[in-house]
Amino acid sequence: MAEPYSGAASAASAAEPSSSSNEPDSSKLQYLEQKYGSKAAHVHLSQPEVNAMVDKVLRDSPTVQYLLSSLQMGGCGVGRPFFHVTRCADDVGGGFSTDYGVILCHNKLSTYKEVELAVAHELIHAYDFCRASNLDLTNCHHHACTEIRAANLSGDCSFYQEFVRGNLSEAMVGQHKRCVRRRALLSVSLNPHCQGGKAEQAVSDMMKHCLRDTDPFPRVPGM
Ligand SMILES: [Zn+2]
Repeated sequence: MAEPYSGAASAASAAEPSSSSNEPDSSKLQYLEQKYGSKAAHVHLSQPEVNAMVDKVLRDSPTVQYLLSSLQMGGCGVGRPFFHVTRCADDVGGGFSTDYGVILCHNKLSTYKEVELAVAHELIHAYDFCRASNLDLTNCHHHACTEIRAANLSGDCSFYQEFVRGNLSEAMVGQHKRCVRRRALLSVSLNPHCQGGKAEQAVSDMMKHCLRDTDPFPRVPGM
């Protein structure tokens, strides 16, 4: 696993800036506690905790079950060994690679809901590789499209997740689209092939088309 872009095709998920801190200093901690409640609610999970949550997500999450059966029907069925829980570097929140599977970073995950969203997000990448054998992540437009779809369809940008991140201060109209754009850009910006403004350009070019593409869902789940 390790390097997100070495070897076979892989997509790293960016960690949002707000979740990249290691040990916040006391003033920041005070601010976080005021904003989000107790510190205890934001302690990151251990590897065994996330492994147990992955078991439950695969068993109980309707979105994840739908994606698993869609992969199965597309001839790309995956099982429990496809999911790896590990500690990750600061700027990576998770990932997917065709030769390794789904990588979940327990040191970036705090709640069961976050684990569920991360699994759904990475399975959308897996689905995109399944349906398009020519998906090429060195192509920034390809990468942008699968990140837009993953942000749009996984539940990453649901009202609740944006509320938790404190991103609902602006007018609510269009917040879902802004969230998808922001999160897709965070991930594509990690791609070494998409530096120097290429990530911004690719996400802008692909937003309209790839937001509309909700395959394998009939519409954006939960909206
Ligand atoms: Zn992603």
